[in-house]
Amino acid sequence: MDGNLKYLKVILPLKLDWEPCYSVLPGTEGGVPSVGTRVSVRFAGRKYVGVVSESDVTPDIELTKIQRIIRVEDGISPVTEVEMRLWRFVSDYYLCPVGEVYKAAYPSLKNDGEMIRSRERLRAEERLRRMNAALAAKRERLEAAVERRRAMYEKAVRPETREKYLEALTKAENELNALPLEIAAQDDSRSYTRLPLPSLSLAQQTCLEQIRGFFSKKSPVLLDGVTGSGKTEVYISLAANVLDSGGSVLYMIPEIAVSKQLGNRLKEVFGNQLALFHSGMSASARSLAVEKVRMGNCIVLGTRSSVFLPFMDLGLVIVDEEHDNSYKQETPAPRYSGRDTAMMLARFHGADLLLGTATPSLESLYNCRTGRLAKVMLRERYFGDDRTVVEIVNTAEERRKRGMKGSFSYKLIDRMKEALKGGGQILLLRSRKSYSPAVQCSRCGKIPRCPHCDVSLSWHRDEGRLKCHYCGWNQPFNAVCPDCGGHLEPLGAGTQRVVEEVSMLFPDARVARIDGDMISGSTGEEAVIRDFSQGLIDILVGTQIVTKGFDFARLSLVAVLQADSLLGFQDFRADEKALQILEQFRGRVGRRGQRGLFLIQTATPEHPVYKYVASEQRSDDLAETILAERFAFGYPPFSRIIQITLRDSDEGSATSLAAALAKAIRSEFGISGLVRNQADQVSVLGPYAPAVDKVSNLYIRLIRVSMMKNQTLMDNKRRLASLVSDFGKENRCSAQLSLDVDPL
Ligand code: ADP
Ligand code: ZN
Repeated sequence: MDGNLKYLKVILPLKLDWEPCYSVLPGTEGGVPSVGTRVSVRFAGRKYVGVVSESDVTPDIELTKIQRIIRVEDGISPVTEVEMRLWRFVSDYYLCPVGEVYKAAYPSLKNDGEMIRSRERLRAEERLRRMNAALAAKRERLEAAVERRRAMYEKAVRPETREKYLEALTKAENELNALPLEIAAQDDSRSYTRLPLPSLSLAQQTCLEQIRGFFSKKSPVLLDGVTGSGKTEVYISLAANVLDSGGSVLYMIPEIAVSKQLGNRLKEVFGNQLALFHSGMSASARSLAVEKVRMGNCIVLGTRSSVFLPFMDLGLVIVDEEHDNSYKQETPAPRYSGRDTAMMLARFHGADLLLGTATPSLESLYNCRTGRLAKVMLRERYFGDDRTVVEIVNTAEERRKRGMKGSFSYKLIDRMKEALKGGGQILLLRSRKSYSPAVQCSRCGKIPRCPHCDVSLSWHRDEGRLKCHYCGWNQPFNAVCPDCGGHLEPLGAGTQRVVEEVSMLFPDARVARIDGDMISGSTGEEAVIRDFSQGLIDILVGTQIVTKGFDFARLSLVAVLQADSLLGFQDFRADEKALQILEQFRGRVGRRGQRGLFLIQTATPEHPVYKYVASEQRSDDLAETILAERFAFGYPPFSRIIQITLRDSDEGSATSLAAALAKAIRSEFGISGLVRNQADQVSVLGPYAPAVDKVSNLYIRLIRVSMMKNQTLMDNKRRLASLVSDFGKENRCSAQLSLDVDPL
């Protein structure tokens, strides 16, 4: 045993609720790797790059059991204190091991990329060092030669010799002068002259000043600005200020698909101070972005995972479309909200925070009420008033009157004709991808289902296959019923079938589709969006992606087919979600002050969501009503929900384990029956089976625990987490249990 050994605690990129201890031989000066240093270690027979979380600790286990670290990874930059602080916050709040947060923040690809890049950089530095050393030697030689010649010249008396020596001296001097002082490293941060910022409208200017006012009082701000009001330009002005004063900006967006248009706009303004960051990028592209962030004074346009970048000088965090559910990560852990984590990031850096949206989330409205957020409104559209007309078509009634042709009402068909005649473009929203969400036998009524999941199979006609949208299982489709040999017909219409219908109705129009089945990147989604914005496509059919922040100049009609499928989610957030989708979609049209049309086809036109969208005087009323309801039922944002998901390959044990777990939770919190525990205000719902209760051969059971927001909340969450963890260990089902704080 080596008495000189020192001990470290290390965070590993694993689901591990403790931080293992390793030993290290101190460096020549007795140094021990400090907190944040990356070290390679072996754990359970595998090699990992971990992060030192505590340095020079006194081990609490037998010293002989402690392994030596493999090496200190000098090539990878250490993790900063603020990064670790954010990880600890995410780990505590979302009830997951800090190792899972580390893994999300530094996916192995990013580590490898960084190592490769740092090796490349080291090699380049070495090359440069050698070149400069050679240069220095040459300079010394030349300097000596100049001195020798000068001496000879000064000593010479005969004019001819003097002239000869002068010539030699001048030549040597010139050679010396031509020698560069030093070969500089390749500088890729070429300076960039920023385009002048656009002048803001009076409304934008006022709003900007209000935001700055709140920022100067250290208050985060919610910018509630209607679609088309020009929030982007307000963000740009704020970001430019921060960059000019040497700081960095994080500009978060919910989806990569929207980033192309916005990225181009930001590139125009900020040049190579802009860094993109999202999970679709290659490892080396991402590590380049990471390096840019480390160098500071840049603006990052990124999706939720960019919240974990190693910012040094963060001055402003912008979360655009803050209401968007895509900010929430569902699988794998950490199941964090990019928006809420960004709020903490800003706080830890002392940076300003701006949330922007046309349809604030209830959480943010609630935060405005409690004073955690200041609210600034931008009610005016940049190109003038919203003259968009909303038309609701009752499909149930049209069907009775024979006013429907497939998925389309004749009313919609007429509107589409008018739009095309006027040179306008059309965007159609259908929230289901595939050709048809199901197929059915016309003889025996059979609907083929996934053998592994509790759902019907969707027909993907272009691929000639039936597919499961939950587990990906698929089989060739030959339209013959496996039971009776009858003919299988499409049931309902997905985006592919809508495209087919549109092409039949408008044979001259150029029609395209955009949905989750497309490949992302420049040949898939991006190409369609580009072609649509350049007017190369007349009618675009898509899933919810078409509702997101796009800005298409010639769009004159947006329409929703089967809007009721948006209300389909059977949970307390259904109305809120449907409303946000419809409002966002409406916001795509009439952005240039032209008159736009928003048409909704629904079988339930009396639903309050449609009434609200169609009403002239839209205000916060509905949100207020929903908030009041949430308050009455003790739903979020007035409480926190923690959802426990249990999966088991055996239906019986899924049911019995879930029942036992729910019972244990109730008894832990002293809840009997359905009565809420008054002291702690904890209630438990379930266990129950979700709408799709079997996915990939695993039966799913859910338990929802709701906790009031009070002083005991943090403690209650911890109690719940440790109870669930113990239950998993005792019943050997840890792997099948997961916790989700603030589930969607
Ligand atoms: P929002 O994000 O609020 O929906 P955008 O930022 O996309 O709105 O702006 C809507 C449209 O108005 C865009 O086409 C944008 O280029 C234009 N616009 C907004 N502000 C200005 C400005 N100050 N100068 C010129 N054009 C502007
Ligand atoms: Zn399946």
